Amino acid sequence: MKVLANDGISQSGIKLLEENKVEVIVKKVADSQLADFINNNQIDALLVRSATKVRKELINKCPNLKMIGRGGVGLDNIDVQYAESKGIKVFNTPDASSSSVAELVFAHLFGGVRQLYHANRNMPLEGDSRFKELKKSYSKGMELRGKTLGVIGFGRIGREVAKIALGIGMKVIASDHEVGEAEIELEFYNHQSIKIPIKTEPVEDLIRHSDFITLHVPSQDEPVIGKEEIAQMKNGVGIINTARGGVIDEKALLDAIEDEKVWFAALDVYENEPTPEIRLLMNESISLSPHIGACTLEAQERIGIELARKILEYR
Ligand code: NAD
Repeated sequence: MKVLANDGISQSGIKLLEENKVEVIVKKVADSQLADFINNNQIDALLVRSATKVRKELINKCPNLKMIGRGGVGLDNIDVQYAESKGIKVFNTPDASSSSVAELVFAHLFGGVRQLYHANRNMPLEGDSRFKELKKSYSKGMELRGKTLGVIGFGRIGREVAKIALGIGMKVIASDHEVGEAEIELEFYNHQSIKIPIKTEPVEDLIRHSDFITLHVPSQDEPVIGKEEIAQMKNGVGIINTARGGVIDEKALLDAIEDEKVWFAALDVYENEPTPEIRLLMNESISLSPHIGACTLEAQERIGIELARKILEYR
């Protein structure tokens, strides 16, 4: 059996496959040459992350392809239904990256409420008279403890976020179309744990009562947060999107930041990636990262192993 990992795969994933007599080719093949490469090399399974698009045209050109594996969660870069209609098994690795994405939410949050990025970049050298001035301008930080975090989308990542939030003393309000209640288990270093049940609430209530709002829903046809929703939020709210571009209306968000309705925002995902929106890139109230939610060493290892296990299971 032969696998092409077109967007890379961890060493542990390769090892597990090779130990089970699967040949792994790790190579970035250009979109225009991908079909020929798959056919000429008799590839059985194509592994991708978000970079490679697996559309109908490619699927039609590769009649012998048996599996498409997505390292990560979102399947929007793959024509899943069409692939399945052609008998191709499509799978992803939904569990591997949840804690990495959740931690990124808090990296943005902690950094944002203390304006750490700008404080870092603007630190003056010894003897520079701007030190006092700088101390004054970065002295309006805020604590997260005691604040209310609204979690929209209470699936895998939303619950990981809730776990961290509860651990640092935040109150959590959650909202989800399908989840009514979830039990959040806080595990401590000494193997003790406690379970905290959280009932979801209507999104309108979450929006009105949260100090910070974080989104963990899949890609949507319409934004979940737009102008009208922002208008209902508390003044000085903070908004974080590490889910998918488009679940927040970026223009409405920028307008609200400029009007000081929204005090702070953090984005890991964008309507267009990379974003052409200069207003967004230059705004000091927005903490930005280039879609790196799942990009930790630990998540990459887990993704590689989960992909390998699924190939071995389905072959
Ligand atoms: P999940 O399927 O476990 O949970 C999503 C939840 O959202 C579900 O419970 C669903 O019922 C709920 N939902 C859907 N639409 C909703 C709506 N309009 N309002 C309220 N709830 C709604 O998914 P997950 O693994 O938690 O992933 C969540 C998101 O994170 C996905 O968009 C995924 O693509 C994204 N993600 C981003 C990164 C990154 O690098 N930034 C990495 C992994 C996943």
